[in-house]
Amino acid sequence: MSATLWIDLAAFERNLRAVQERVAPAETMLVVKDDAYGHGLVPIVSRAWLSGVRWFGAFDVETGVQVRSELGQDARVFAWMVFGAAQAAAAVDAALDVGVGDAATLEEVAAAAQRAGAVARVHLKVDTGLHRNGVRPEEWPAFVDRAVELEARRAIDVVGVWSHIAEATDDEDDAARARYEDAVAHLRSRGVARPLRHLSASAAAFARPEFRYDVVRIGAFCYGIRPAGGPDERRLGLTPVATLDADVVALEDGVARLGIGSCDGLPSTLGGRATVLTPDGERPLLGIEDTETLVGSWPSAAIGQRVRIFGAGAWSQTDLAETIDSIGEEIAVRLSPLVVRRYR
Ligand SMILES: *Cc1c(COP(=O)(O)O)cnc(C)c1O
Repeated sequence: MSATLWIDLAAFERNLRAVQERVAPAETMLVVKDDAYGHGLVPIVSRAWLSGVRWFGAFDVETGVQVRSELGQDARVFAWMVFGAAQAAAAVDAALDVGVGDAATLEEVAAAAQRAGAVARVHLKVDTGLHRNGVRPEEWPAFVDRAVELEARRAIDVVGVWSHIAEATDDEDDAARARYEDAVAHLRSRGVARPLRHLSASAAAFARPEFRYDVVRIGAFCYGIRPAGGPDERRLGLTPVATLDADVVALEDGVARLGIGSCDGLPSTLGGRATVLTPDGERPLLGIEDTETLVGSWPSAAIGQRVRIFGAGAWSQTDLAETIDSIGEEIAVRLSPLVVRRYR
């Protein structure tokens, strides 16, 4: 393999600032699941910390623990996939903020905290319609009762109330927000007066002020990944952070073979649909055959030349994704960790 994923940390910082300014006074939680959307966890969280980000959304406990060890005790690290007693214990041990969306996990987290002699910081999750994870509205009162009880025993501290929405249509999001408001009101009626509220991710947080509440959980936009079918990066004031280059490693019958292929995470369905950018500014079609990536109709091809597959000057990750009815995030996270990341 002979490919490089360039990560433009200055662009990342500009995106962060654009997001932070847009959503203020809500606070930005940078979502760093899937190795920071394939950008590399440690360099990304380090730069974000220097840029003033104080909340990190880790998804799983392992990632949360890594962020904690990288950034120290002052970072707020939110993990919302906690499975079983061992993970609950690890989350408590690393002082993570834990997202809890079912009664069994609530018990596990509380038990882990009591064993450790600690108080777990818990954000209760209501299901507002995605049906993925989260407590159904009809079960919310009993769930809240139990959380309040565990809080009285000093096992947990109910610090937040959250949900996740589709961000596909405004109508669906509005309905989800109404369910969310009901859940928040109920929690307050049970004595949790000022829970941190967080509901939305990139798209809704950017476009719709009433979705911002106290904290917004932003991944895609910080990495400069625009929504498929949505406004372009420039209109959003964002810059793609990642640029993927690959070298020509062989030439056969006028067809150039690149040092990256579908085994490295390029969706094979991109073949015949996406163009690449050559050093002389041509934009031939990408071909993927078996696992190999080929570029034809490029007369000046030579071994060692670099072709840009996405990023600065070339198509964006979302441009590629749109040709295969996917989303930019998928292009970003599928790329093999073996592709060298270089930071500049
Ligand atoms: C991935 C994720 C986000 C971030 O979504 P983006 O659209 O990338 O901003 C926010 N919240 C949850 C629960 C997520 O899983």
